[in-house]
Amino acid sequence: MLGCGAIIAFCPLLVIVVQVAMINFEGSILDALWAVVQMGPVEWATRYAPRPTSMGFQIYGAWVAFQVLLYAFLPAPWSYGQRTPAGHLLGYRTNGLFAWFVSHAAYFAGSYYGWIDPAIIAKNWLPLIIAFNAYGYFLPLMAYVKAHWAPTHAEDRKFSGSIVYDYYWGVEFNPRIGEWFDFKLFHNGRPGIVAWTLIDLSFTAWQYQQNGFVTNSIIIVDILHAIYVVDFFVNEDWYLRTIDICHDHYGFYLAWGSMVWLPTMYTLQAQWLARFPNSLSPLAATIILSVGLMGYVIFRSVNHQKDLARRTRGDCTIWGRPAEVLTARYTTSDGKQHQTILLCSGWWGVVRHANYLGDLFFSWAACFAAGWTGGRWCVVPFTYGIFMTWLLVHRCVRDEIRCGEKYGSTWEEYCKRVRWRLVPGVF
Ligand code: NDP
Repeated sequence: MLGCGAIIAFCPLLVIVVQVAMINFEGSILDALWAVVQMGPVEWATRYAPRPTSMGFQIYGAWVAFQVLLYAFLPAPWSYGQRTPAGHLLGYRTNGLFAWFVSHAAYFAGSYYGWIDPAIIAKNWLPLIIAFNAYGYFLPLMAYVKAHWAPTHAEDRKFSGSIVYDYYWGVEFNPRIGEWFDFKLFHNGRPGIVAWTLIDLSFTAWQYQQNGFVTNSIIIVDILHAIYVVDFFVNEDWYLRTIDICHDHYGFYLAWGSMVWLPTMYTLQAQWLARFPNSLSPLAATIILSVGLMGYVIFRSVNHQKDLARRTRGDCTIWGRPAEVLTARYTTSDGKQHQTILLCSGWWGVVRHANYLGDLFFSWAACFAAGWTGGRWCVVPFTYGIFMTWLLVHRCVRDEIRCGEKYGSTWEEYCKRVRWRLVPGVF
């Protein structure tokens, strides 16, 4: 519980310290922290901390409302998640790709006709971060209250007995308003992720406005991030069967993460390059782009193999051979027995989380595109890679404890057949 409380209090400070370091201390987090010691937190905050503005709240409010409208009214295929612990099979409106295109078309049209400044996000960045945080704290509070007073599926709730823990990890599994407005899919998969590429573009426009040129490094970052984001929406149906949707309850961890952490920390490379423009040599640019694309190909093909094997219940071909699977049984909290498969061939026979490995190549490539500035390596653009490494290693461990409890001896057998989690011979 103490850990959860510390994260709730500490994470927004981390976001702010990174911004202050980038804007006021040439990217040195140590110098920014040393200044706190020297001048005291109050004077430090008075001098450097971001201030709210009504413009920041208006832009953000309009953005979230726009995304709600797109989610609600754009035509949407109907997709299904995985059975919840209480045995519900939920349907979802998966029109994210359409929403992404409409949002970007609106941004380009608005910039072209002069209705908006293409650098509007970059120029209102600090007040926007305040607005992200206000919503990022309010949302889990709303989810917590709703879980007690108007739960969507009461049997899928989880209470720990601690308010802090429940606020952090969440109580409800899939909170909804009405039949289909799903808090988790909407907030995890719309305002933050659609904004990701727009934030990159806005900082790219700002780099151009300040310098009269656009560096190849920021273009590489934009390309890599756009691939990741568009891939997410093309495969939105697949996302319904990942840990976020299938296993995590809805609290601060997911809500603040998608509303604040994602837009501020995942876009750091573009923010950095807008402030410290740095071009890469053709060789460095080619290597970085190739490693990023290789990471993406691994990431996508691993995820595809699992999805295919699960959809066909193992009756499919992986790497040109019939899939090898283990049949696993589990019981939901309503007492019913279910059966599924664990894939043991293809990528899933090499290591148990090759998709995370692909993601790491991809994440670190984007960091390297931005990390070399003024003849030295800087930490700030690498924050995303460091965070992703921590997140995915932690996920390996967390997920495997859950899978062990769910599948018992079948999971043990899988771990014997596929010995390593991420890197053969190392971890
Ligand atoms: P996975 O898609 O790997 O899902 C893990 C789940 O898959 C397990 O809980 C288990 O669930 C099932 N599973 C485990 N082993 C097998 C197997 N051998 N065969 C079939 N099913 C298996 O993980 P995530 O949901 O964490 O990640 C999905 C993708 O999203 C990854 O590529 C990851 O890199 C990326 N990601 C990106 C983040 C970001 O912020 N950019 C954050 C988190 C993830 P079950 O109960 O169904 O059996």
